[in-house]
Amino acid sequence: MSDEIFQGNFTQQEPIPEAAIAAAVAVMRSGRLHRYNLAPGELGEVGLLEQEFAAQTGARYCLAVASGGYAMGTALRALGVGPGDKVLTNAFTLAPVPGAVAAVGAVPVFLETTEELVLDLDDLEAKAAAGDARTLLLSHMRGHICDVEALGAICTRHGLTLIEDCAHTMGAAWDGTPTGRFGAFGCFSTQTYKHINSGEGGLLISDDAELMARAVMLSGSYMLYARHGAAPDPEVFERVKYDTPNVSGRMDHLRAAVLRPQLADLPRQAARWNALYRVLETALAGAEGLALPHRPGKEQFVASSFQFRLPEAAPQAIAAFVARCAARGVELKWFGAAEPVGFTSRYDSWRYAPAQTLPRTDRVLATLLDLRLPLTFSEADCAQIARILADEARRLPGAMAAE
Ligand SMILES: *Cc1c(COP(=O)(O)O)cnc(C)c1O
Repeated sequence: MSDEIFQGNFTQQEPIPEAAIAAAVAVMRSGRLHRYNLAPGELGEVGLLEQEFAAQTGARYCLAVASGGYAMGTALRALGVGPGDKVLTNAFTLAPVPGAVAAVGAVPVFLETTEELVLDLDDLEAKAAAGDARTLLLSHMRGHICDVEALGAICTRHGLTLIEDCAHTMGAAWDGTPTGRFGAFGCFSTQTYKHINSGEGGLLISDDAELMARAVMLSGSYMLYARHGAAPDPEVFERVKYDTPNVSGRMDHLRAAVLRPQLADLPRQAARWNALYRVLETALAGAEGLALPHRPGKEQFVASSFQFRLPEAAPQAIAAFVARCAARGVELKWFGAAEPVGFTSRYDSWRYAPAQTLPRTDRVLATLLDLRLPLTFSEADCAQIARILADEARRLPGAMAAE
């Protein structure tokens, strides 16, 4: 029998829902695309999106911005993080995270990653105790959520302010509390490859009135902050408005219009993603040569991607595995590859940060593979992908199974 080949496209998203297209067309017909270009008494798509996202996460305040990276940079700036300050952050994350730290002139201090793909809390404890960092920018990378209660205790013990990067956890929670609600700020992305799609975009949430007032000023509010739907009261702005620079990065009504129907649909989409994930997880649970991360009961994840390791395989064997899977239509990203390819980036390719050694992360990334799960895939597609992965894992050198 010849090897089966998967025909799906790993970067094909679903179309924008018709209701969102209609809302976007209405915004274009109005000619009022700028968030502050409102008819009297109107909140507009951006203000409504902010209200709805605040309600969905339980946050007091929400600000819609131009990107997830912008949301993180704004959170850091609002907290007063500046040139030379050290910011603790994940070594295993994507480029916009250390980039946001560098954008305010601060210095990323990388933290180790565990085999379960979450932040290594022992390393956090050690580096928080040893250094003078006051801020932790925690990335819930690839949707894996660490024990946030234990993390919170470490932050309190060492006086660390937490910012959460929730680019991969919109709609996800830890023990019932949405991610983004554990830190001073939660930062989300609405870029095409995340959980709701406006091409580019970001959302910032917080319960802290003064921090959010600064964030609104930073985003470029031209003193029009009274036109927000989920911002602090105008009195709070009196305290910050002359001292906070304008670093324009607002969202416009067009993107907000595209996002609102998708946000309302997020719980249903999350369930679909997790159904795809469970097909892969179940099919590969006992597969030879392949290790899956354990997902704790308190972690209510949204699995828009799937990770596994080939713990026993040497680099050449993994490179060959990736090539064979690609030939069979299964597109994998290998975080251990020597050069960054596509979105695969490693902390040692961010050379603007001081060189650091993270042996545990190196060991994890060396054998870590990643695949996207677009919602254009069916459960049957995922079953086929799992068969191909298991099949190729059996062919790894040293694997015991007979063909
Ligand atoms: C996508 C992403 C972001 C934000 O990205 P933008 O492209 O700036 O919206 C932040 N963190 C991680 C881990 C991401 O993958």
